[in-house]
Amino acid sequence: MEYLSVSNAQKCILESVKFSDVEIVGLEKSLNRVLVRDVRANRDLPPYDVSAMDGYALRSADLAKVPVTLEVIEDIKAGDMPTKIVQVGQCARIMTGAPVPQGADAVIRVEDTQAVSENNVRIKFAVKAGNDIRSKGEGMCNGEVVLTAGTEITPGVTGILATVKCAQVQVYCRPRVAILSTGNELEDMDDPVDPNKIPNSNSYALMAQVQALGIEPALLGIARDDPAELTEYLQRGLKFDVLLVSGGTSVGVHDYVRPAIEALGVQMKFWRVDMKPGHPLAFGITTKTAVFGLPGNPVSSMVCFEQFVAPALRHMMGHTRLYRRTIVARLTHNIKHQPGRTEFVRVTLAKEEGGYAATSTGPQGSGMLLSMAKADGLMVVPAEKTGLNASEQVVVQLLDGTVFQNAADFKE
Ligand code: AMP
Ligand code: MG
Repeated sequence: MEYLSVSNAQKCILESVKFSDVEIVGLEKSLNRVLVRDVRANRDLPPYDVSAMDGYALRSADLAKVPVTLEVIEDIKAGDMPTKIVQVGQCARIMTGAPVPQGADAVIRVEDTQAVSENNVRIKFAVKAGNDIRSKGEGMCNGEVVLTAGTEITPGVTGILATVKCAQVQVYCRPRVAILSTGNELEDMDDPVDPNKIPNSNSYALMAQVQALGIEPALLGIARDDPAELTEYLQRGLKFDVLLVSGGTSVGVHDYVRPAIEALGVQMKFWRVDMKPGHPLAFGITTKTAVFGLPGNPVSSMVCFEQFVAPALRHMMGHTRLYRRTIVARLTHNIKHQPGRTEFVRVTLAKEEGGYAATSTGPQGSGMLLSMAKADGLMVVPAEKTGLNASEQVVVQLLDGTVFQNAADFKE
């Protein structure tokens, strides 16, 4: 099988994985899920013209000469219906959200008035017709599509769903994901520390990457580099919708993962991608399961997850935004690059005048997990480049820790 470019590998994966089934969940459990259907408004909001301020509903024509004193004919609170029509020289005291009475065409806020007596108020300024009135249906109109299928449920969307009384929401299921690590050299979390072994970090880093997408994965543990043991673990993994296998996909004589999954009926779609880190990535499918053979090197495993597994899982969950948001940043130093493979350099980002500055997190070996732990993003070095120079504009994929910033970087 030939090497694929990153984008061709992504395309192949997205063409191979299916949308998850749908389910109905309570609104209180629906955050970050994706709507299966359009959602329509079930009423006009506001249901009638309402006041946007605490103040007085009046006839704008009465304010040709200000200040002017008007007679207050009633008090309208939110939830009340007006009982009187505002005539020339009259107004009604009105609270935010209360219906604007007939006859009135504007509201003036209480701060721009002065009470003269119980039933009289002095209006200090003129306002135009429509001032501080929220018109009927300005928020939503009965029957209008307010949310389209494929919308992710963010807190703002939750507010809209509550507004249209959608207590039960139809969403895509979360795929069931299993994570299996492979390798004789691995020591798991509960094992005593053995200086000759390598701690299994991949199962946990992958777990966290899956959790960050809102999915609780199953950890299947560690399979030794032994075809029979590996087969047993893989069989367990193939009961899931997505199986992530870490390690054993390379060209070493004890890299049994690819032959073992093929022997279990997995149709291999590709092996090896023109990327750094992470080129020995394998991908295959059965009728039920998408199988990712991720490279064992800890950084490669995480970078491959970001480029291939995360978009696949998001696609299955109905998302339309599949990839990490990218920004353009200024590179602060030179970077060497051997042409041929797309490289993902771990960088930190610092805000500066006009944008961001990107700086490598340090040594970039594919086993150096600290390079990933420190990273705000992955800088993409295109395959054909021979390097990038300081001050060049570069593309950076934003990682999870980048949504919030320090107060010092916040400007109103
Ligand atoms: P492999 O892809 O199996 O050839 O492994 C490549 C490198 O990644 C080796 O140095 C392994 O020790 C390391 N490695 C493999 N699996 C894991 C794991 N689960 N956690 C941490 N390092 C691993
Ligand atoms: Mg191995």
